Amino acid sequence: MISPRVEINLAKIEHNTRHLVSLLGAKGIAVTGITKATLGLPEVANAMIAGGVIRLGDSRIENLEALSTGGIQLPLTLLRSPTPEQAERAVACASISQVSELSVVEALAVAAAKRGVIHGLILMIELGDLREGVLPSDALGFAQRLLQTPHVALLGIGTNLACRAGVVPSPDNMQELALLATRLERQLGVHLPIISGGNSANLSWAMALPTGRINDLRLGESILLGCDPLTRVPLEGLHTDAFTLVVSVIESMAKPTKPRGATGQAAFGTPVAMRERGTIMQTIASIGRQDIDPEGLVAPSGVSVLAASSDHLVLETQTAMPPGAEIRFGLDYSALLRAMTSPFVATTFNDALRTCMPPKRKGSPA
Ligand SMILES: *Cc1c(COP(=O)(O)O)cnc(C)c1O
Repeated sequence: MISPRVEINLAKIEHNTRHLVSLLGAKGIAVTGITKATLGLPEVANAMIAGGVIRLGDSRIENLEALSTGGIQLPLTLLRSPTPEQAERAVACASISQVSELSVVEALAVAAAKRGVIHGLILMIELGDLREGVLPSDALGFAQRLLQTPHVALLGIGTNLACRAGVVPSPDNMQELALLATRLERQLGVHLPIISGGNSANLSWAMALPTGRINDLRLGESILLGCDPLTRVPLEGLHTDAFTLVVSVIESMAKPTKPRGATGQAAFGTPVAMRERGTIMQTIASIGRQDIDPEGLVAPSGVSVLAASSDHLVLETQTAMPPGAEIRFGLDYSALLRAMTSPFVATTFNDALRTCMPPKRKGSPA
C-alpha cells in the first residue's frame, strides 16, 4: 500500500462527535465541527455531520470550497477573517464569516449584494488571548456599524482563547462574553442568536460549570484526536486514534550514536546534543519535517524518534527492519495538521465507510 499515508477511521470521528454533541447538548451548547486539520476533507465533514454537528467551519477559504465541492450541504462558517480581496470567494463558499474589521465587512457586503445574498457575521471579541477580535469596549460601536451595513446580518458574537497566549476559558471570560451579548442586545434592540464561546480548549469549562448564554463551541481537535488541547489529556469516552501515520523504512543498520568530525549547524539549526551510548540500530523512514512535526509523533513501543531533517525521519529500533517495512505512529495536532497538508502524504480510510484515496488538493491562488 502507498506510503507515507494517514489512515483515517471515520467511524471513530463520528463516535467522538456524537459523544461531544450529546454532552454539550445537555448544556444547551451546539457544536460547529472544524475541519481545518484535515484540509477540509468532505469525508471527515460527513462523519461530523453524522455525529450531529449543526454547522461546519474552517479557517481557510480553499478548505470551505473543498467542502462545498464535495457536496456538503450544512452552513459553513469562515473562521479566519478574509482579506477584502477575498470577499467574493468568502461569500460564495461560506454563509457566515467571523470578522473584526469594518473594511472587511464592507467588502463582504458588496460581494453579498452582487451575489444577491445576505451574509452572516459573527463579531469576534478579544478576551485576553491577544489574537483576533475587537476590544470589548469597542464592540458596541462595531456592532452598530455592522447593523447599518446592508446585505450582512449580525448573527452573534464569539471569542477564541488558548490559541496564541494559552489563555484558559474561565467563568470570568465566558461571563464577560455573555454579558456583552446581553448588553449589545439591549442597547441595539436586536437578538443575537449565536454566542460562540471558543474551541476545544473550552471543554473543561463547559463540562464543569454553568454555561449561561454560550450556545456554540467550535470543535476540531477534541473531535479528531479525542483530547483536551489545554492539557493534551485524553477525554473520557473518546477515541484518540482516529488517525494513524504509516511510514516506510528505507535504511536500517547498526550505527554509532556519536557524530564523527567537527559539527556546526544542521539543516534545521543546532542539533540537540548527542550522547555517546555505543552502537544502536538506526532506522530511517522516508518522511520528514516537510510532512510532519517530529515532536508530535507517538511512536509504537520499541521505536523512538531520534531526529528529522526535511525528508528523513531517523529512528532507533530494536532490530533491523527491511526497506519497505511499515511503522505506524500516532499523531498530535501539529503532526496531523502537517501530514494532512503535505502533498507527499496520502490519505486513506481504513473502515467500512469509505476506502478510496483522494489526491491532495493543490492550493489555488485567491
Ligand atoms: C481552529 C479554530 C477552532 C477549532 O479549534 P480546536 O482547538 O481544533 O477545537 C475554533 N475557532 C477558531 C477561530 C479556530 O481558528
